[in-house]
Amino acid sequence: MQEVILCKLGELVLKGLNRQKFEDRLKNELAARLASCGACVVESRQSTMYIVPQDAAFDLARAEELCGRVFGIVALCRAAVCEKSVEAIVATACDYLKDRLGAVRSFKVEAKRSDKKFPLTSIQIAQEVGGLLNDAFANLHADMHAPELTVHVEIRETAAYVHADAVPGAGGLPRGINGRATLLISGGIDSPVAGWLMARRGLELHAVHFFSYPYTSEEAKEKVLTLLRILSEWTGPITLHIAPFTDIQEEIRDHCPEELFTIIMRRFMMRVSQRIAQTVHSSALITGESLGQVASQTLPALVATDDLAVMPVFRPLIGLDKSDIIAFARRIGTFDTSILPYEDCCTVFTPRHPVLKPRIDQVEQAERKLNLEELVEASVRSAERWTVRPDGASRTGRDVPMEGIR
Ligand code: ATP
Ligand code: MG
Repeated sequence: MQEVILCKLGELVLKGLNRQKFEDRLKNELAARLASCGACVVESRQSTMYIVPQDAAFDLARAEELCGRVFGIVALCRAAVCEKSVEAIVATACDYLKDRLGAVRSFKVEAKRSDKKFPLTSIQIAQEVGGLLNDAFANLHADMHAPELTVHVEIRETAAYVHADAVPGAGGLPRGINGRATLLISGGIDSPVAGWLMARRGLELHAVHFFSYPYTSEEAKEKVLTLLRILSEWTGPITLHIAPFTDIQEEIRDHCPEELFTIIMRRFMMRVSQRIAQTVHSSALITGESLGQVASQTLPALVATDDLAVMPVFRPLIGLDKSDIIAFARRIGTFDTSILPYEDCCTVFTPRHPVLKPRIDQVEQAERKLNLEELVEASVRSAERWTVRPDGASRTGRDVPMEGIR
């Protein structure tokens, strides 16, 4: 008996003329992600991607797990393939789903016939297959409203497919279909979730992390690499720039009023991040800010931060409560790493009374005491570049090309 994985496409099917492009993206993404499972063919037909193993060594269980983390798929299931006849379908269901059919009391059959040449209608298929399964399993009775198990039968062009209920997929749109954006990632709970939410909307992620050695430790850096590694299991490989922030923070500490420290620091993060973003052709920034969560996330503080933005700043958590964000972090798998207790550069030199309603003229006046351009350029220039993949992270350079960016 041949077994395949069926991946159902969600919003993709609404995309009209772009649909082919979307499907091709998803197909390539699936092929890349499943390469480690063995040989398979990814085919796209009738709003479904078929993962067809090419030999017995293909690891279907692992492939199913990986498909559940690919954006663009709303639901997926493993299915048995058989000949298009009622006898073959019943025999396949009895064999393929025997443990489940044996373990429940109520069931129904749902049939879908996309091959209109098949002689029975969907309702007739469900009735015939359901009747024969009922005869084959003494424990079963049919229940059309609240069955414990639904047996799905799909009659398609080339074959019939038999499977149990599909499980939810990751949803969203395929990697990179909406371009590339740069995630400002700290070691906290919020920013990995923000990255995940925007990647799910079809953005390819690039990341920037600011570190303030020796105020923040190597462990803090390792933590960010681990968070991105977990995130990359959903998004595919992520390029990370680790930008030094110590000189900037010390200059602010030495020359600016303490209560403006946080807001000026955040404005530096924006300046450096968008410079780096431009070098990697990234068109937007993503942050994990949530309205009112801390002093730097009041509306006036966000206005003062955005004042110097030259690209859109996506804040997908802006309207979420912390408990909502934590639920996402647990689902993604980043929560346990995020709560490890290492310092972030935002938590060193924290002012005792940060200003809650910063005025832009006041902030700009304080910034005049600093050599903005030099500080930003030095941080951009000395950023380390890493590539983070599901199986680990590797340092890939320190060279940010400076030409063409201002
Ligand atoms: P998180 O849980 O993401 O750390 P937070 O609630 O601690 O968020 P802040 O520390 O104020 O909030 O940071 C707000 C946002 O600023 C973060 O979500 C992240 O996008 C960005 N950010 C903070 N620290 C850093 C850093 N060290 N490097 C890069 N971006 C950062
Ligand atoms: Mg933080």
